[in-house]
Amino acid sequence: MVERTLSIIKPDAVPKNIIGEIIKRFETAQLKIVAIQMRHLSKKEAEAFYYVHRERPFFDSLATFMSSGPIVAMVLEGEQAISKNRSMMGATDPKKADKGTIRADFGGGIETNVVHGSDSPASAAFEIPFFFSQLDLVR
Ligand code: ATP
Ligand code: MG
Repeated sequence: MVERTLSIIKPDAVPKNIIGEIIKRFETAQLKIVAIQMRHLSKKEAEAFYYVHRERPFFDSLATFMSSGPIVAMVLEGEQAISKNRSMMGATDPKKADKGTIRADFGGGIETNVVHGSDSPASAAFEIPFFFSQLDLVR
């Protein structure tokens, strides 16, 4: 089934000049970019994006990190895009991520883990419109 998922290249990754490397991996895996933007979230915006984690002990730190610098938000489209992107990302903690995954290759720590990806159709349905309007999505 063709799906769409939200991918974010996080603030730790942008200064490492690996935007192109990460996008190349998605394209090689037949995930198409149907929307893309670079922006610097405010802390309030980062809190709103990660609202599901509001009760977690790391929530404040996560929102501070996600608003610490520019990010690249993208919509990826392809067969099983949601699970495909999640397996390409690797486990949340880069130390536990499988070899060859984006987080294993470029991650610093559990917070500075390079990329975000929607984890279900329901989260994609919340996260895509958070960044993109219907008109931003090419077809
Ligand atoms: P993401 O939602 O960013 O794709 P994920 O789904 O692998 O990552 P979540 O459990 O949704 O992991 O956590 C969201 C983000 O919060 C993680 O990517 C990480 O940056 C941060 N995080 C998760 N667990 C911790 C933790 N124990 N300590 C600090 N930060 C954490
Ligand atoms: Mg998550």
